[in-house]
Amino acid sequence: MKSSLRKTLAVIAVGWTAATWAAEPTKLPKLVDLGADKCIPCKMMAPILEGLKREYAGRMDVQFIDVWKDPAPGRRYKIRLIPTQIFFDASGKELFRHEGFFGKEDILAKWKELGVDLSGRKPSAGLVRETAVAADARPREAVCVMCDENVNPKTKTVVKGQSEQRILCGPHCYFIYFSSIVGADPKAEAAKLSVTDWASGSLVPATTASYLYGMDAQGRPTIKAFADKAAAVKEQQASPGNLLGWEVLRSKELATRCAFCDRAVYPEDACGVQFGTTHGYGCCTHCSMGVAARLKQDIEVEAKDGLTGELIRVKTLDGQIASLEPASAVAWFGQKKGPDGKWVSAGCFKQGFFVNEANLQKWLEARPAMTGRQISIAQVLADKMKLSPEQIAKACKLGECK
Ligand SMILES: [Zn+2]
Ligand SMILES: [Zn+2]
Repeated sequence: MKSSLRKTLAVIAVGWTAATWAAEPTKLPKLVDLGADKCIPCKMMAPILEGLKREYAGRMDVQFIDVWKDPAPGRRYKIRLIPTQIFFDASGKELFRHEGFFGKEDILAKWKELGVDLSGRKPSAGLVRETAVAADARPREAVCVMCDENVNPKTKTVVKGQSEQRILCGPHCYFIYFSSIVGADPKAEAAKLSVTDWASGSLVPATTASYLYGMDAQGRPTIKAFADKAAAVKEQQASPGNLLGWEVLRSKELATRCAFCDRAVYPEDACGVQFGTTHGYGCCTHCSMGVAARLKQDIEVEAKDGLTGELIRVKTLDGQIASLEPASAVAWFGQKKGPDGKWVSAGCFKQGFFVNEANLQKWLEARPAMTGRQISIAQVLADKMKLSPEQIAKACKLGECK
């Protein structure tokens, strides 16, 4: 009586287990090791499999089958020797099998090579921010209209229009602004420009000032303007640099341009773009991809992660991504809502690439006023490739940004 009750319980227990299995088909990648507890390499596999089972619980199923005790699975899987490890994707499709001892690092490297993500992260639909987390409370005259950085009062640069004035953080942003005007007349534009005299803090005409052209720790030029050349010479003793007049400054600043939108760039801020045997620059990550569209040529882009500066390398082939390193890299498309309610690009200074979504997330947390959406780097390229030559000619020009 007692033993028949135990039998009944066992049957119920087995039945319950089977039902659970059927109700919850595995959605995880699975590693099946077919071996025997008495074979030497199989014994060496055992702690590795146990470790993987613990470490990747909920992310990968690990199963050991002893084919000496139960030969049926060995026949079913058609193994030739033990141990054999079979790699299945989450849908149950066999991806790869290996015969003999297989170490932990080799197993993990194989999953990676097979393109199976064991991180357990759900594929993200992408970060989107349609409303600023905090509005930008800075007064307008304290913010550069080009780069959106705070304006240093000692380098403030002002373009006086007929009805309004544009505040820029310094002469470099003026040259970016100048190279963004369609059909700009250099003389007429320069006549509207005032720069801040480093010595007195007052605004003076840009074309008659002297410029002390130095360099910061990152190798970026620094520009200090002086109304009085003697004051510039005095400052030169304290902080080394070359003294330049307006015309020389202008030609230096306009010498290096974005190969997509033609804006003035400093190589230190820009993305490197290789096309054929030529090396050029993209003023922002998105412009760098646009070089493939403008030149109708395969390119190689070297961009820096917006948060950490880590390198991201993209190669294109016939207008599509040929390779991306790291494969986890994502793009941020900075956008703002236009007066008609349509989303438009927020400009080159609001774009970026990141080695992964986590870096983008951190970067966004530090920029509460930023709006836009995460897109793939392939999408950045696709958006540029569909532009017509007319649209490319207007790209990033003032009032034309789409
Ligand atoms: Zn600026
Ligand atoms: Zn550009």
